[in-house]
Amino acid sequence: MAKVLVLGGGIGGTEAAIALRKEGFEVSLVSDKPYLYIYPISIWIPTGEAKFEDVIIPLDKFARRWGVNLIIDRVEKIDAQNKKVHLKSGKVLEDFDYLVVALGQTKRKEKGLENTLSICGSPEEALKIRDRLVELIAKGEGKIAFGFGGNPKDKTAVRGRPVFEVLFNVDYHLSRLGIRDRFELTFFAPMPKPGERLGEKALKMLDQMFQKYGIKKITGKKIKEFKENGVLFEDDTFLESDLIIYTPAGWGNPVFADSGFPLNEAGFIKIEETCQVVGYEWAYAIGDSAAIEGPPWTAKQGHLAEVMGHITAHNIAVKEGKKSGELKSYKEHINILCLMDMGWRGGGFAYRSDKRAMLIPIPVLGHIMKKAWGVYYKLYKLGKIPKII
Ligand SMILES: Cc1cc2nc3c(=O)[nH]c(=O)nc-3n(C[C@H](O)[C@H](O)[C@H](O)COP(=O)(O)OP(=O)(O)OC[C@H]3O[C@@H](n4cnc5c(N)ncnc54)[C@H](O)[C@@H]3O)c2cc1C
Repeated sequence: MAKVLVLGGGIGGTEAAIALRKEGFEVSLVSDKPYLYIYPISIWIPTGEAKFEDVIIPLDKFARRWGVNLIIDRVEKIDAQNKKVHLKSGKVLEDFDYLVVALGQTKRKEKGLENTLSICGSPEEALKIRDRLVELIAKGEGKIAFGFGGNPKDKTAVRGRPVFEVLFNVDYHLSRLGIRDRFELTFFAPMPKPGERLGEKALKMLDQMFQKYGIKKITGKKIKEFKENGVLFEDDTFLESDLIIYTPAGWGNPVFADSGFPLNEAGFIKIEETCQVVGYEWAYAIGDSAAIEGPPWTAKQGHLAEVMGHITAHNIAVKEGKKSGELKSYKEHINILCLMDMGWRGGGFAYRSDKRAMLIPIPVLGHIMKKAWGVYYKLYKLGKIPKII
């Protein structure tokens, strides 16, 4: 039985592990955390609507259910030339036939980033946002800035929607507490039309919501630096803030830098349509780790990471002669499919493909649907119910 080593216990890595086990491979999975962190539902941590324990799946339970050999350790180095993986503990993994890299992405470096907190960073950061918000609420007033950055080197690595979700959830939370009028909420982004990959209609809807909820907007201005007390823009204007919730664009995981794998300009691993790493028959890269090629609105997304996990398992099975059929391509699965949450006010169902761009408002029920997805996701990943989406 061929042995597959999966690096990363996130959304893509766990899905690849499930699919590989279903194809009958022996699977080992390396994760630096003992849990899978479900980013899409972590957006409720800042307002206290979800606790840390609500948005994780313990990987020991996952591994037991799917018969995966779990290794909790940190990948320090991938040595592509010698087909070896070095771990922080000093262990060197080399007894594998295939490697699947699913280590996610890191943040693009920007000046003063230490003065910001991101919902797209570590789980600890989401908890810090919550604590800062609690402090400001106790103080009874505050200025909060919400933003995300662009990446000229790889446009797929821009993550805006979760920032909108946290913004609308915080706005709703403060309104519910009856203190919204004592807070100034501002959205900022360097691009002139942030959110445009969801389509023109979505942009209009976002603008209408900013107006309706009294959210200020600063767009199309490059960011010079983040200071302790605010954001300095290229024209030297300054946005004063007590709390800056900012998601920089993504960048390749530092582990890739000297791996020997081919990388794009933003440090993501170059892959074929089959998810195989360019030039390496035995290696695959999926999800946020991979340099994804597609239409201009293409974004790195969890559901694409999962599709890539399945495609990788299928393609390895075909290569190994375990099944017949054509090799599959990730490209035909590129679309944007998500529920943009706005707290108990509801949400918007967003879909973008080559043929269609839509954002359909779903009052109240949208929020319940996203909550239900979270419950479904946990049950599915622990093998208690079949995959639906
Ligand atoms: C707040 C937020 C909300 C989102 N909402 C949605 C949504 O609604 N729908 C959607 O489709 N997508 C959503 N996304 C995007 C989605 O979460 C990502 O695209 C997805 O997580 C990518 O999966 P991945 O496996 O590539 O990376 P990850 O899920 O980030 O997993 C990478 C894993 O590798 C581990 N790791 C990293 N470095 C090392 C190392 N050196 N050694 C060992 N382990 C390591 C990490 O700890 C992590 O467990 C959201 C993202 C965020 C941040």
